[in-house]
Amino acid sequence: MRTIDLRSDTVTRPTPEMWEAMHKANVGDDVFGEDPTINRLQDRVAELLGKEAALYVPSGTMSNQIAISILTEEGDEVYCEDGCHIFNYEGGAPAFVSRVQLRPLRGVRGIYTREQVEEVLKPDNSHFARGSLIEIENTANRGGGTVWPLAEVRRLSELAKERGMSVHLDGARLWNAAVSSGTPEHVWAQHADTISVCFSKGLGAPVGSALVGSRELIEKAHRIRKKLGGGMRQAGIIAAGALYAVENNRARLAEDHRRAHTLARGLSTIEGFFVDVEHVDTNIILLDLSKRGVDAENFAETVGKRGLKVTLAGAQKVRFVTHLDVNDSDIEEAIAIVTELYGE
Ligand SMILES: *Cc1c(COP(=O)(O)O)cnc(C)c1O
Repeated sequence: MRTIDLRSDTVTRPTPEMWEAMHKANVGDDVFGEDPTINRLQDRVAELLGKEAALYVPSGTMSNQIAISILTEEGDEVYCEDGCHIFNYEGGAPAFVSRVQLRPLRGVRGIYTREQVEEVLKPDNSHFARGSLIEIENTANRGGGTVWPLAEVRRLSELAKERGMSVHLDGARLWNAAVSSGTPEHVWAQHADTISVCFSKGLGAPVGSALVGSRELIEKAHRIRKKLGGGMRQAGIIAAGALYAVENNRARLAEDHRRAHTLARGLSTIEGFFVDVEHVDTNIILLDLSKRGVDAENFAETVGKRGLKVTLAGAQKVRFVTHLDVNDSDIEEAIAIVTELYGE
């Protein structure tokens, strides 16, 4: 039985070309700043995002947490969306690492507005936590891989400037947002002080993320990375995979988006299953099973027995993610499996 793994775009394995790039990588001790592959990767990513500097880190979680640490003081408040990664999937790290509190706002498909932040922002006095950071996740994972409207990102960054706050963009899938919207990475990045991008998601590299920003901020980030144990030595071996991915796998994300659409359309024809096809912006699909009263865990187990792997996104909601290691026939097969099990 073949396995079709649509749990996440993190499950990809390096292609032979990527392995070759990693095999040939020039390496050095990065704690001394002497790994030429890491230096090239950092320069290239900074250039793509139109910022002065970038720092290679082991994970997107570390990247986000370093950003929060350098952009806040203890006891500050951080505005973010209810379903966002820093609030839901980082083990409570904002409290653990930076001693800040998050103020999650209920958005629509992962997107909130300037007005929602204004509503909860407090006057500058000793009763209140100091609001110091706005966090935006683009694409919004739990929102269903949604691409933010650029205008709303701009409005939030204007608010941040007016109120002396910073903006961090969790761009784990900013590459997908850029391809889907046609708005390049550096345009999104203009509205943020720091940006985190992942190489290990849709781009298909095995390990790593980068934090990007001004030279001054990345200097500070360096110290926090060290404190968190994220200083690596000859990590050019893995950075070579990331560099290969950045140079070769960005444009092809359009294929993942096309396949996600095909899958969304296929699943939405099943009676009582709902997919918001119109809002499948990128490579993530949320399938709502509630009208049929189907339990997500039960669904995942049932299709899992047929070799189709998905993740739970709620009690009656499951998530499918397309990526580098699935092709058109896998998508057809996935639709066929679900239709056979649940179609009329
Ligand atoms: C995957 C992801 C991250 C980082 O995850 P790591 O597993 O720590 O690399 C951050 N933000 C979002 C939105 C993500 O999807």
